[in-house]
Amino acid sequence: MLDFNLSDEQLAVQKMVKEFVDKEINPYIREWDEKGHFESSILGRLAELGLMGVCIPEEYGGSGMDYNTLAIVCEELERGDTAFRTAVSVHTGLNSMTLLQWGSEVQKQKYLVPQAKGLKVGAFGLTEPNAGSDVAAMQTSAVLDGDHYILNGQKTWISLCDYADHFLVFAYTDKSKKHNGISAFIVERTMPGFSSKAIKGKLGIRAGNTGELFFDNVRVPKENLLGQEGEGFKIAMSALDNGRFTVAAGAVGQIRAAIEESVKYCHERKTFGKEIGKHQLVQQMIAKMEAGYQMSRLLVFRAGCLKNEGKRNTRETSLAKWQACDFANEAANDAVQIHGAYGFSNEYPVERFLRNSKAPVIYEGTREIHTVMQAEYLLGYREDKPLSNPLPAWPYEKKETVKS
Ligand SMILES: Cc1cc2nc3c(=O)[nH]c(=O)nc-3n(C[C@H](O)[C@H](O)[C@H](O)COP(=O)(O)OP(=O)(O)OC[C@H]3O[C@@H](n4cnc5c(N)ncnc54)[C@H](O)[C@@H]3O)c2cc1C
Repeated sequence: MLDFNLSDEQLAVQKMVKEFVDKEINPYIREWDEKGHFESSILGRLAELGLMGVCIPEEYGGSGMDYNTLAIVCEELERGDTAFRTAVSVHTGLNSMTLLQWGSEVQKQKYLVPQAKGLKVGAFGLTEPNAGSDVAAMQTSAVLDGDHYILNGQKTWISLCDYADHFLVFAYTDKSKKHNGISAFIVERTMPGFSSKAIKGKLGIRAGNTGELFFDNVRVPKENLLGQEGEGFKIAMSALDNGRFTVAAGAVGQIRAAIEESVKYCHERKTFGKEIGKHQLVQQMIAKMEAGYQMSRLLVFRAGCLKNEGKRNTRETSLAKWQACDFANEAANDAVQIHGAYGFSNEYPVERFLRNSKAPVIYEGTREIHTVMQAEYLLGYREDKPLSNPLPAWPYEKKETVKS
């Protein structure tokens, strides 16, 4: 059944996040962006609103809402700034949802519950200096020594590197097996030998925290292996199905922000005796933004519906991520154009939109990787098989309580 309406619950969350962004992010974001300051208290506020685990089942400390509600939260947050949506993407999309999918009951209780409540923050460490799109080129290693794995190596471009408490880290346990020799680990910041360092001089997402992780003989208990040895690549790719979904949803919010600012400016600015909104070439840019917004949003919600049904959605999520991020980058670029020279200054937010909209075209699969993926599906070179550990369908099954 096709239903394009949001539920009352989803509308209430949408309104709550919009008001939160207008009150607690938008008045300060220009200053945070200018100073390169990550306002970490926003994560605490999101936790108070139940948004750090919005789609995690209540039995694991979350709000138990559906996957499209996560998309709504991401859209509203990125309407404010990409930095805070990115934080939710790595915390919930890449980390918590992966624990929900692949974690043992003990791991879920120890790591997922505090993350879903927002008491602890999670992040995701896959990329290395010489391994981005080509994941198997990674060099970080994990060697079993008694009851521990010893991790050595480095990750880079890791969101929330200085703020997260828990990291999903991918490392080779057997390099000779290539993709099948990668394993996934839950690493705590407090483990001796772990350190992090922020990257300075970023083009965009300056109000966010991104940087490097270092592992110098970090002893990770055996019970922190996620899934089985050798399942790391599969786990990373399934994590990306959820991370990309949140990135796509955020991009929809970025387009909306570009539309809001551009429409306002079109009515304010006059040239040749009329509002610039009356010029057809300006209207063309506005119309393209609307088309990108509507198409992207439908693609995101389609992927979310598949998640709710418990169906694999790698193909649909990849398309949504690719298209929404491209449209957002284009919309931000046009928003600057519509603002003329004023768009070139941070007096208006559109220059920040343009700088912010570039990273999502690069992270969680570059534009080129998604283009190739879509072609491969059509050409029959790529096919998705059901996962051994699928994301639970929504509504979540309630656990039977045993009566004494
Ligand atoms: C702000 C930001 C935050 C990030 N956060 C995280 C995070 O939290 N965790 C994490 O693990 N990573 C994170 N990343 C890293 C990100 O996922 C990688 O940058 C991304 O996967 C691309 O890898 P790369 O930068 O090494 O580019 P490369 O893989 O070196 O690619 C370089 C160029 O070659 C192209 N290319 C590569 N291979 C192919 C191919 N087969 N066909 C066609 N073209 C190809 C690419 O599209 C790109 O244009 C973040 C990055 C940024 C910018």
